[in-house]
Amino acid sequence: MPEGPEIRRAADRIGKALIGKTVQAGQWPYPSLIDQSHLIEGHEVLSVTSRGKAMLIRFSSGWTMYSHNQLYGRWTVHLRTTDPRSNRSLRAEFLTDKHAVRLWSATDISLLPTPEENGHTFLARLGPDVLDEHVTTEVLAKHLRSMKIYRKKGATLMLDQRSFAGLGNYLRSEILHAAGVHPDDRPCDLDEATLDRWAKCIKDITVQAYEHKGITVDLDVAEASKARGEPRRMWRHAVFCRNDRPCLSCGNLVLRKRYAGRRLDYCPTCQPSLRS
Ligand SMILES: [Zn+2]
Repeated sequence: MPEGPEIRRAADRIGKALIGKTVQAGQWPYPSLIDQSHLIEGHEVLSVTSRGKAMLIRFSSGWTMYSHNQLYGRWTVHLRTTDPRSNRSLRAEFLTDKHAVRLWSATDISLLPTPEENGHTFLARLGPDVLDEHVTTEVLAKHLRSMKIYRKKGATLMLDQRSFAGLGNYLRSEILHAAGVHPDDRPCDLDEATLDRWAKCIKDITVQAYEHKGITVDLDVAEASKARGEPRRMWRHAVFCRNDRPCLSCGNLVLRKRYAGRRLDYCPTCQPSLRS
């Protein structure tokens, strides 16, 4: 599933084609959009942004389209003259003077009045959005110490959208590794310096993944590896999908564990468990 950084990059791409433009026409075959075209067509797109893994498109009509792609949804941006030729099911099509922006296959789409966005069932339950500029490292450090999550495992916290919105499977492994936190350790098991480092890694690695197309290792390490001709899958991440290979930091073997069926890769040397 795409994680927060990938959804935010999709929002940027869609925003470039739509923001400041009037939706001249379109198709709205999805049940929650059918008969609602008057809320979108003829109106300007004011903003396109993401919240966690959800996409929000706001119109001058005072309405917002919420969508969540889950595993299968997909956005495309083409020139209006291009025939996209897809076998997927079209859910929404926005036509401007130049572009055609389409949403395919998603099954979680709704329209809601913009002032009521925060009351949406999914959005209302989200934890702090790591990519939100107001969610600083300090905010995250305080949140890690909050009662609600203080006794939950790192492996749980780094995936649960109600704890930290926008994180996902690759970010989970990478953040815990960079912070030196064992996946079974809980915030209450750790000292103050480790909690602060963990909060900084949550913010910095997610922002870097957004700005550098999902690369979570130190950019110098990535460049050096690239220069040696190694494939992207070898250097994009420090531990994720590098199980049974040497850890990029210490050289010992990276191990894989599964939590609720989802893979998590970690280095037992860099991430020793502190739980007694
Ligand atoms: Zn290591």
